[in-house]
Amino acid sequence: MTQKWPVYGKIDGPVIILGFGSIGRGVLPLILRHFECDRSRMVVIAPNDKDRKLAEKEGIKFEKAGVTKDNYRELLTPYFKGPGRPFLVNVSVDVSSVDMITFCTEHKALYIDTVVEPWLGFYTDTNAPLAARTNYVLREELLELRRRKPGGPTAISCCGANPGMVSWFAKQALLNIANDLKLDYTEPKTREEWAALMQRAGVKGIHIAERDTQRAKSPQKVIGNFVNTWSVDGFISEGLQPAELGWGTHEKTMPATGRRHETGCDAAIYMTQPGIGTRVRSWTPTAQAQHGFLVTHNESISIADFFTVRQGDKVVYRPTVHYAYHPCDDAVLSIHEVAGGGWKAQTATTEWLKETPWKILDENEIEDGIDELGVLLFGHAKNAYWYGSQLSIEETRRLAPHQNATGLQVTSAIIAGMTWALENPEKGIIDADEIDFRRCLEVQMPYLGPVIGVYTDWTPLKHRNELFSEDVDTSDPWQFSNVLVTDGSYTGALSVQAPPRLKSVK
Ligand code: NAD
Repeated sequence: MTQKWPVYGKIDGPVIILGFGSIGRGVLPLILRHFECDRSRMVVIAPNDKDRKLAEKEGIKFEKAGVTKDNYRELLTPYFKGPGRPFLVNVSVDVSSVDMITFCTEHKALYIDTVVEPWLGFYTDTNAPLAARTNYVLREELLELRRRKPGGPTAISCCGANPGMVSWFAKQALLNIANDLKLDYTEPKTREEWAALMQRAGVKGIHIAERDTQRAKSPQKVIGNFVNTWSVDGFISEGLQPAELGWGTHEKTMPATGRRHETGCDAAIYMTQPGIGTRVRSWTPTAQAQHGFLVTHNESISIADFFTVRQGDKVVYRPTVHYAYHPCDDAVLSIHEVAGGGWKAQTATTEWLKETPWKILDENEIEDGIDELGVLLFGHAKNAYWYGSQLSIEETRRLAPHQNATGLQVTSAIIAGMTWALENPEKGIIDADEIDFRRCLEVQMPYLGPVIGVYTDWTPLKHRNELFSEDVDTSDPWQFSNVLVTDGSYTGALSVQAPPRLKSVK
């Protein structure tokens, strides 16, 4: 039976796709499926053309080129000509979102991306202070652009799975908890109302809690290779940024390696240690209790900022928000190797054309598994609630070509965002937290496999202090000090650990 898929709108101008990696390859067939567009006015631009046939067999031009700070105006301008409103879909690495949005605004073009991406070199600039290598800074640059140039064509920032879809899940999860707590409320319409409801529901924090169980058909991880289910380039970049988290009002003590920023919204802190060197305790339905990596992500800051309640200038409520990511097992082994090498990635080159030992497992190389990606809202009267998608590789293969489960959670969010942009074309720069979560989830749901909500009695104190004595805060299980796995290897980290206490033996 061939499924009939809904067409959500017409893109009447050219469609320009930057990047043709795991996400670009997956989003192209979905764009063709869900939007009416003129293929003769579509182009994919990427410096690596190993998959150009996938575009060309659809009648779409492939231009083999890397977009740089110096060439982007000359390279892109010809594609923005002609009738209709262009749509730029930025799913590349190392191409500045801020400059792409500025360019799109000048050309009255719609825009979408899945991260706030900087130009090449940002992540690895050891001359820059740590604070300057954060997602906080990247987000502030975008907010500054919005303040300087309000309005204009819609440019949706950070509209993938996470960041992106998880912001919509957080709202749905909050409504489910509010209903289960029998709160008397009307569905929030403004940011302030959403934040007030989060506060009323008693949510102390949110983990973006993910377990990727996809595994390769044949052994993939060998010494000197990094294996993952999505961009290795992207994951290493963000993994070697400082860990960052939205910093909630219930927290009593900053981690010893925690630092505040001197300017900006102040919704988040960073830590003087890499995200892939920072483990946290968390929970997903399949894994149950697990350690995840606190890798910095835009949504840790944007969700915390969105749900902030102020009285005058004073912040009276904010949830702690961070990622707790257990990537596929091959990626965990790959990270272990990077850590062992003193945070040196398996390949130091970002030369576009050079073959690298990096490996992204595609849909044909995966034996089985799911990407279980959701939000864990904790600290309320019902303890903790996970709400999210459990998309399997088998279902992904049935639903869409050229991608694995991780990819489809991202590409379907892009389709949802593009739909919203076509329906709301003059909203200026906007991020996933601010767009209509119901409409987006309506578009995305058919691609997410089982989407479930479950309560758990797990807390980060479960089974602590049993085999070993640990210094934990029993007065509030949901303190970040209980969530963080401290190993003492970062400056100051030892100072948060009390000297060992021997259990008295009778
Ligand atoms: P990938 O590494 O598989 O592919 C990256 C693509 O960008 C490649 O085609 C590469 O040739 C191209 N590229 C590199 N330099 C370029 C340049 N200068 N100009 C144009 N293209 C260039 O990555 P991916 O898995 O497809 O991810 C793409 C982007 O999406 C990354 O920024 C990644 O962080 C992001 N992402 C977001 C989410 C989310 O949920 N928000 C999830 C996965 C990936």
